[in-house]
Amino acid sequence: MTAPDRPTLTLHDEREKWRCPQLGGPVHFEYCRRMNRNLPCHQLYKCWSEEFDVDDYVKQNFTEEEIVNVFHTPPLGRVGTIFDVLRRVEEAKKKQ
Ligand code: SF4
Repeated sequence: MTAPDRPTLTLHDEREKWRCPQLGGPVHFEYCRRMNRNLPCHQLYKCWSEEFDVDDYVKQNFTEEEIVNVFHTPPLGRVGTIFDVLRRVEEAKKKQ
């Protein structure tokens, strides 16, 4: 699925959550929908379901594979996240 196939991807970008449980401060939806390597945060439903129909938004803008990867795969956890960040830094260095 390419960007033009995501019809309502940016529709909620300006919405603001007063406190992201991960960052500890305010965050716009734009961050939430792409913070996971350009895919949504796995807590999207928990944080935004009271604001709008998250299920409809997700189904319109992400493939079945992306949905499974984000919402049906256990999160890495703190240590796993650290190693994941380190791996991405190393990959970025190799590309330079
Ligand atoms: S969806 Fe994720 S990034 Fe967005 S507010 Fe919730 S925890 Fe934070």
